[in-house]
Amino acid sequence: MAHGNVRTLHGIPVSGGRAVGPVVLLPPPVAEPPAGVRLAPGTDVEEAVARIAQASTTVQNELTAAAELAQGEASDVLAATAAMAGDPTLVADAEQRVRAELLVPERAVWEAAEVVTRQFVEIGGYLAERTSDVADVRDRIVAALLGRPAPGVPVRAEPFVLVADDVPPAVAARLDPAHVIALVTQSGGPTAHTAILARALGIPAVVATRGLLRAVADDDVVLVDGSLGTVRLDPGVDDIAEAIASSRRPATFDGDGRTADGHPVALLANVSDARDAASAATAGAQGIGLFRTEFCFLDRETPPSLDEQIEAYRAVLSHFPGKRVVVRTLDAGADKPLAFLTDVSEANPALGVRGLRTAVSHPDVLETQLEAIARAAEAERADAWVMAPMVATVDETADFVELAARHRLATAGVMVEVPSAALLSGQILAHAAFASIGTNDLTQYAMAADRQLSSLAELADPWQPALLHLVSATCRGGEVQGRPVGVCGEAAADPALAVVLVGLGVSSLSMTPAALPDVATMLARVTRAEAVRLARLALNAPTAGDARAVVLGELTR
Ligand code: PEP
Ligand code: MG
Repeated sequence: MAHGNVRTLHGIPVSGGRAVGPVVLLPPPVAEPPAGVRLAPGTDVEEAVARIAQASTTVQNELTAAAELAQGEASDVLAATAAMAGDPTLVADAEQRVRAELLVPERAVWEAAEVVTRQFVEIGGYLAERTSDVADVRDRIVAALLGRPAPGVPVRAEPFVLVADDVPPAVAARLDPAHVIALVTQSGGPTAHTAILARALGIPAVVATRGLLRAVADDDVVLVDGSLGTVRLDPGVDDIAEAIASSRRPATFDGDGRTADGHPVALLANVSDARDAASAATAGAQGIGLFRTEFCFLDRETPPSLDEQIEAYRAVLSHFPGKRVVVRTLDAGADKPLAFLTDVSEANPALGVRGLRTAVSHPDVLETQLEAIARAAEAERADAWVMAPMVATVDETADFVELAARHRLATAGVMVEVPSAALLSGQILAHAAFASIGTNDLTQYAMAADRQLSSLAELADPWQPALLHLVSATCRGGEVQGRPVGVCGEAAADPALAVVLVGLGVSSLSMTPAALPDVATMLARVTRAEAVRLARLALNAPTAGDARAVVLGELTR
């Protein structure tokens, strides 16, 4: 091992779980062979030409073998790439360049692949999306010609921890959780493809790990904790045994969210339909903290009827008898336009007529929805709460709560997604029964950073201290009025941030059901007082990175 005194590396946790195994370094990407390099005088040209077809066959065979080992979509992608590697047009073009221009074979392959890429882009559609596969095939053939290791994830008999500076999306798309048991990168961010993919595959993953490539070498055994964002370089026997046991034990949640000293924190689920609600119930969620009703009607040209809505809402409520189900009224607009509510000609849809604002031009749609929620609640045994999205003012709150009451919905609250609502939460909560902070939008509006733009991911980060101050302000308003404040944005699914949110005064956290066990485990490790102390540290940090680092540092000590 080549790593001095460092024992634990710290990065950003992006996919929970623990895994222990040997490191396999991702081979560096293949560089472009310099232009204009020709065969050395006296080289047998036909021999150089023949090497291209050989290399293409080798790559095709390797990819076919890998496709047979892989499963499902990964296998299909590999088989399609194998076919591309054997493409006679690519090989013939490269051969012709060696014969006519005496280019070295690797340069000839590079140039021939450029032609294919241009053609794919010109044709557009599906083929334009496959240009990264052309680049992959090109790199593999060039590596074979140069006698280098094939780029991409190496094939090993034993499961391993993949370590890389970054993982290109084309490589990430082919990760097989049966072989890659954890993923650690030196660069990357929490919203990068790698992170999203690792989460989807359920592989523990840590990104932005400082000093990683200097600290580890192939075959070093490391313990990756994707919940804490740590990489232990020399795990002891006990650590290894514990990690193996916990990786075999499917993460579960026993339905009781609380801190180490017993302070209750309701752990709820975000759902979009009845199927989600069923899996949330199976995952042990204590209720539903956000039912995004607009997802039931995204493809509709006309408003759904009263009966249709009653049916859709009952199907969700039925999974949580006796438990809280927070139904959000339609949040149409911006990234979720609904044809019957959204004016798509607006120049700035995120700042336009979305969420509760659509009720001004379409009051009937809101009235029908509230009536449908009330009738569904009367027919089922769940404790149905209702809340409005994108509330910005005290007046909007008062109007919404009054309207809900007219439809027999006694527990009516608001989402805090606009900074004005966070700052006026005291007055807002004088009317509303509760507030639920949508950190996705609240971060977007606090930082003026489009939540969909990966180029602004560092700004649109819920660890931004400014966002935490807005959460704190909302909780203070809740305390003054004696009303509960929850969080239902993605921030609630980040175990370390969840601790901070509880320390700021949040009493419920609603998240994708898969995140429940990790969040519950982390909360159970800290007392309420510790959470308050960590929240103060995060509030006082100058940057999102500092806030995250100081809290993770304390949690992993
Ligand atoms: C949010 O903005 O944090 C939220 C939960 O709502 P959505 O993601 O549906 O906009
Ligand atoms: Mg929102």
